[in-house]
Amino acid sequence: MSQEHLTIWKSCLQIIEDNISPQAFKTWFAPIKPLKLESQVLTIQVPSQFFYEWLEEHYIALLRKTIRKELGPDARLEYSIIMENVGVSGNQTSSPYTIKIPASNRQSVKNPAVNMPVGMHETPIKNPFVIPGLRKLNIDSNLNPNYSFDQFIEGECNRLARSAGYAVANKPGGTAFNPLLIYGSTGLGKTHLAHAIGLEIKEQNPELTVLYVSSEKFTHQFIDAVRNNSVNDFSHFYQMIDVLLIDDVQFFSGKEKTQDVFFHIFNHLHQTGKQIVLTSDKPPVEMQGLEQRLLSRFKWGLSADMQVPSLETRMAILEKMMYADGIELPREVVEYLAYSITSNVRELEGALISLIAQSSLNKKSITLELAKQMIDKFVKNTAREVSIDYIQKIVCDYFDLPLELLKSKTRKREIVQARQIAMYFSKKMTKSSLANIGLHCGGKDHATVLHACRTVNNLQETDKHFRKYLDDLEKKLAIH
Ligand code: ADP
Ligand code: MG
Repeated sequence: MSQEHLTIWKSCLQIIEDNISPQAFKTWFAPIKPLKLESQVLTIQVPSQFFYEWLEEHYIALLRKTIRKELGPDARLEYSIIMENVGVSGNQTSSPYTIKIPASNRQSVKNPAVNMPVGMHETPIKNPFVIPGLRKLNIDSNLNPNYSFDQFIEGECNRLARSAGYAVANKPGGTAFNPLLIYGSTGLGKTHLAHAIGLEIKEQNPELTVLYVSSEKFTHQFIDAVRNNSVNDFSHFYQMIDVLLIDDVQFFSGKEKTQDVFFHIFNHLHQTGKQIVLTSDKPPVEMQGLEQRLLSRFKWGLSADMQVPSLETRMAILEKMMYADGIELPREVVEYLAYSITSNVRELEGALISLIAQSSLNKKSITLELAKQMIDKFVKNTAREVSIDYIQKIVCDYFDLPLELLKSKTRKREIVQARQIAMYFSKKMTKSSLANIGLHCGGKDHATVLHACRTVNNLQETDKHFRKYLDDLEKKLAIH
């Protein structure tokens, strides 16, 4: 038999090696064996179906180019896959057999071994030598370029998590923050921060293998791997990652097998000094359905929380978003959005987007009126009520007082009155407790708030001017 396939493959490997990272080359190309070459069809043997999938997903353009260069424009590639039969008992029978799969004929693969993270390109490729190469050479990190540190507004609410993330990004695996666990409720920027870390690392160290994956996707990949007897490949794949960003680990809860495989991957990565970043919607102590040994590892590094952003941070975030989209909005509209949507940046962003969409569809300019209508529809049942912050702002604007004074402890008469009115409307229009209202209005206790409400009620019955203030304010506060 001719040895041509060996020399050809050797030349191919040289080209490939020059085009990808040493790590990727070692992992994905070194184990390949050339089998034969027959009328410009080169057959290569790969260790598993997973391997085949991976090559197809990530290296097809490179393979195509290389093989064509070596064998001419009509060259084709075929894979031969070693199938390992794993017995029910788990004993491996040592009779590997090979099946033949023409390159990129994905129909012949019943279950793609693992849904590998390939981002945009899920479309099956009929013929690798015809479809122009869409693919990147290295592993697709699955990072969203919009979620950079640049685009992330820092505030008191996220300072710890952001700085820890930044430290990690500058020294992956080399800080005490390993793993870095970022937790906080939904819509506060955890995913954004995880991407920012990955992007920054990639920027500084393009040779590192960075992978962002949601826990949900990880779980599905694992389930598929079990179904396809490719759990080993699955684990090996994850073990060669340099920076693993796993989003929403609370999703692992109750999934013992997934936790188990993740536990081993975690240990391997951690022991070899690789960086792990996790996010979760709860702190480790509150994560239920997660194994103790996993939880204790989550606590090895740093757990950093993300809080609800303050009003100033919310405004800054809105301004950043507007700037990124090249949009300008009247200041009062931005304020209204920031005042009304308090607990979730994603909703804030959503409101801004629908507002812009609405105005461009209806060719209306964005006014406070439009914003109010939209918020009313957008923030359906949850935050329909006005916030204490907003009430205070409207009251201060009305009486032309600075907000700091209203929130201060001053006992000046007109301030006290404005403060009492703000308390009264807060009680009337929000679901906040008296204590909470007091806290927002200069650190008063609940009795003070109750007293304020009574005073306002009395005054509006006896004082015509006062009554007028209340009516005016009520109109301003009304959503419609
Ligand atoms: P989580 O993962 O915590 O649910 P995300 O990271 O998905 O939240 O954030 C929701 C949206 O809000 C994203 O579009 C994100 O870019 C934006 N966002 C959240 N926090 C900030 C911030 N501090 N600065 C800029 N944008 C933010
Ligand atoms: Mg998220």
